[in-house]
Amino acid sequence: MPPPVFRFAPSPNGYLHLGHARSALLNFDLARASGGRFLLRIEDIDTARCRPEFEAAICEDLDWLGLSWERPVRRQSEHFDLYREALSRLDREGLLYKSFESRAEIARLVAQRDALGRWPRDPDGAPLYPGAGAAQSTSEQERLEQSGLPFALRLKVEAAMHRARHLIWTEQGEGPQGETGMVAAQPQVWGDVVLGRKETPASYHLSVVVDDALQGVTHVVRGQDLFWATSVHRLLQRLLGLPEPVYQHHALVRDASGAKLAKSSQSTALRALRAEGFSPADVRRMAGAEAG
Ligand code: GLU
Repeated sequence: MPPPVFRFAPSPNGYLHLGHARSALLNFDLARASGGRFLLRIEDIDTARCRPEFEAAICEDLDWLGLSWERPVRRQSEHFDLYREALSRLDREGLLYKSFESRAEIARLVAQRDALGRWPRDPDGAPLYPGAGAAQSTSEQERLEQSGLPFALRLKVEAAMHRARHLIWTEQGEGPQGETGMVAAQPQVWGDVVLGRKETPASYHLSVVVDDALQGVTHVVRGQDLFWATSVHRLLQRLLGLPEPVYQHHALVRDASGAKLAKSSQSTALRALRAEGFSPADVRRMAGAEAG
C-alpha cells in the first residue's frame, strides 16, 4: 500500500490566519500519524491577486509553526498548460460553452429574474448564471469570440451530470448541516460553473482537481466552506477519469462575533500573533488543533 498523501493548498493573496493554521496542522498531523506524506501546494492561478511576498510569508509562518513539507513545492501558475489540456478535453466532449456577458450585464439579468421571483443562488450565495451562452449556436459563439470580447468557459452541468450519473463522495469530516459518510454530490446547485476564462485557462475547481490527481493526493482535508465545492470536484474527476480522494471537511475557526475569519482581518494573522508573543503551541491551541 503506498502511503497516504495529504496537502495544504493556500492561495498567496494574503497572510495565513488561525483558520489556515487549523487546516495545515490537521493535514500535517494526520500525515504523520499515518506514515503519510505532507505536501504544500501554492494555489496562485489568480495572478492579479497573488504575490510572491505572500508565498514567502506562508512558508515562513508554516515553518514557525513547526511544519515541514516536501520540496519542490507545486505552484499552480507554472502549470497553465495542463489545465488548458483538461479544458480542451471537456470541450471536445461538448461539455463547455462560452459566456460573453460582462459582470454588469449578469447583475442586470439577475435583477430582472429576481423581479419575477427569486433567482437561485449557489451555496456561497452568488446567483447562478442567468445568461444566454448555453443557448447560443456555435456560429454565434464564434462570432462573439472573433469580435474580441472576453469570455468565461462554463460547464454544461446538467449534461455533465447526465454523463456522470450517480455521484457520491466519502466524507470523513462533516458538512455544514452535519453531512457525513457517503454524501450525494449535487453540482447542479452551482449552475454552469466557470472552469476557465479567456485570459486564464483555469479555475479553482479545475486546477484543484487536476493537481490533486497529479500529486497522488489521497486525502483532501480542508475547511467546511469548501464542502459543497466537492460536488463540482467529484464531477470533474469523473469526467476527466481521475481518481477519487477521501474528503474530510473541518469546522471553521470563527471570530468573537461568530464570523468566518478572512485574510483581511489582521488580528488573527499568524504573524500578528507571533509579533504579540504567542508561541507555536499557543497558536496550535487557538486553532483548535492540540491533538498533534
Ligand atoms: N486554495 C484554496 C483556499 O485557499 C483551498 C483549496 C483546497 O484545499 O481545496 O481556500
